[in-house]
Amino acid sequence: MIDLRSDTVTKPTPAMKQAMFEAEVGDDVFYEDPSIKELEAKAAAMFGMEAGLFCPSGTMTNQIALHINTETLDEVVCDRHAHIYENEAGGYAFNSRLAIKLINGDKGRLTPEQIEMSINPTFDWMPRTRLVSIENTHNKGGGSSYSLENMKAIGRLCSDKGMNYHLDGARIFNALVANNMKVNQLHGLFDTISICLSKGLGAPVGSLVLGPADKMKKGRRLRKVMGGGMRQAGYLAAAGIYALDHHVERLQEDHKRAQQIGDAFRQKPFVTEVLPVETNIVIVRLSEDYPLQDFLARLKDHGILAVPFGPQTFRMVTHLDITDEMTNQAIDVIHQL
Ligand SMILES: *Cc1c(COP(=O)(O)O)cnc(C)c1O
Repeated sequence: MIDLRSDTVTKPTPAMKQAMFEAEVGDDVFYEDPSIKELEAKAAAMFGMEAGLFCPSGTMTNQIALHINTETLDEVVCDRHAHIYENEAGGYAFNSRLAIKLINGDKGRLTPEQIEMSINPTFDWMPRTRLVSIENTHNKGGGSSYSLENMKAIGRLCSDKGMNYHLDGARIFNALVANNMKVNQLHGLFDTISICLSKGLGAPVGSLVLGPADKMKKGRRLRKVMGGGMRQAGYLAAAGIYALDHHVERLQEDHKRAQQIGDAFRQKPFVTEVLPVETNIVIVRLSEDYPLQDFLARLKDHGILAVPFGPQTFRMVTHLDITDEMTNQAIDVIHQL
């Protein structure tokens, strides 16, 4: 099977498994796991933050970030298709009792002007606009990414208006690689950053939330109350360290393959739209006369997996376990359809 459903389906490589096998571990609830401490310090330093917190999922890191950047009855501003809104089971309300303001972004990207217009006046009957959360790359936006200038302009607005600024960077390394940016260009921009090791980077489990030491201390307690305190999870952290060291630069290969797949779909008469392919995500819309489920079933018959992604729309994502050979095979199938 050529599994293009998500970049989360990767299996650890032999070298990653070796790194996991050799990890030094301890009980991380007692703060005694050297591999987790190393990963947290490494990721924090990369992104110019004081501290990091290793969590089982990116949902948990986002939820912790929402909580430590707000108080009850505050409002968070994000794109209408943001992961924190559509894919975290309503956790912003459940975990932090926040209100949410949705913006109609350009493929998920917000502008400072849109955000400024969405800030509530300070009447006591209105939720207090307290946090801006951007997603880079943006999943539902087809892997779209922000320019550095745009991220900085939003940051200036947040400082001016006393709002915190969170980056849902589940796929931030895809954004950096696609824009030829170095990670240190993000230093000092955000209050908190969430990154995923289990997406394009190919680790089996794990995400980190990064930020100031006092916020991460609070985050550690929140992780516990959500049931995310882990014991000898250094085996997982070792996979994360390996991923950060070895699987970032190669993301450009995923991007190239995604482009090729996008180009193949663009030539098909039954395709009405392919979102611009900036990174590793391809989002395709089919014309009305080709039922989506039939199409996905046909792809599956040819050994290719994709996920439904809205009306007449499906998503494919390239990743560490997709080779050039598999890409060519997928393109051959697309040409035959
Ligand atoms: C995958 C993803 C997350 C985190 O998801 P988990 O499955 O909980 O790790 C967060 N934000 C975005 C944009 C994502 O794509």
